[in-house]
Amino acid sequence: MLATSLVMAMALVSAAPAGNVRIDGKEYVSASALVAARGMRCSVDERAGIYTLIDGERRYSMVPGFDVAHVDGRPVSMGASMIFRNGDVMIPAGLFSVSNAGRWVPSDGSIPLGKVILDPGHGGQDCGALGPTRIREKDVALSVALRLKALLEAEGVQVVMTRSNDTFIPLLQRSEMANRSGADLFLSIHCNGAASSAPSGVETFALTWSITDVTRAQKAAARLSPDDVVDGASCNVSRGAEQAIFSAYLSEQRRQSLDLARALQAEMTRNLGEEDRGVKVKNLSVLRETYVPAALAEIGFITHRETEGKMRSAAWRQKIAEALAAGLGRYARGEAARVGNIAGSAPYAPASRVRQVAGR
Ligand SMILES: [Zn+2]
Repeated sequence: MLATSLVMAMALVSAAPAGNVRIDGKEYVSASALVAARGMRCSVDERAGIYTLIDGERRYSMVPGFDVAHVDGRPVSMGASMIFRNGDVMIPAGLFSVSNAGRWVPSDGSIPLGKVILDPGHGGQDCGALGPTRIREKDVALSVALRLKALLEAEGVQVVMTRSNDTFIPLLQRSEMANRSGADLFLSIHCNGAASSAPSGVETFALTWSITDVTRAQKAAARLSPDDVVDGASCNVSRGAEQAIFSAYLSEQRRQSLDLARALQAEMTRNLGEEDRGVKVKNLSVLRETYVPAALAEIGFITHRETEGKMRSAAWRQKIAEALAAGLGRYARGEAARVGNIAGSAPYAPASRVRQVAGR
């Protein structure tokens, strides 16, 4: 790594970011003020264009032009992108409130996840698919999601819901909530529907390969106005380099999403005894626009008479929630082992916390 450490240890004056500056209606704080006021260190990877602020144990990594930062390796939305002004690096002040609110708290339970965002499909005027006796997908999805929320919270995992009642939330808004949440993963819960009553079984979706991570990075960058990057060229960070970083980040997010989908599918199949329709890929907006690991679980065909009958029962919905919790546990332990195995990196969660939850 081409890291130039600009260590500027100065007197710590105040814990609050001194001297917030308003630029185009958004609050920023300059990196040099943070270094001066908080004794933070700043390091720049010139080749990769990654700016890292080090505050004690905590590391904030940012790429100019992108509003997603990494705080201790976890993606966090800053609400605005990092920019340059008068030779200084300007950091959205929102980063500090968001990252403190959503800071990584190690789970004391058996699922090594800090925070999860659950997305019950449909809601409000959008009922989703209907069963033969008019059971509505939106109600089943919400019931399962609320049950899963309770299971995860009992394991010490923080849960954010895109909806916790019968309201309609647009798809893009669901993704934006996920991107802002600082969550470890996003899980959308749906019931399948078919024109015929024959199909049954469970399946899980991940993002299709037909949209590349480079395209997603370009799309994300295109949403930013050119004014968001002020004097960017003077700091040798080209838009192309930013996109390369972000697409590399998205490739990792895609790998995690596939692992998440596989873990969920394996546990649903194992715990529910339903037909295994496998992990599938699709260009779903809610997956494409979400920058945290994301999967969509189809928990059964509501149009299948026998499945609909099971979905009526609270006990079955609880069983689905337990299967999904086991899937999240399987994924999280896989990630913990993977990160722990990368030389030099801190373990994702203490091994003692990584216990078997599957099969309870
Ligand atoms: Zn649906």
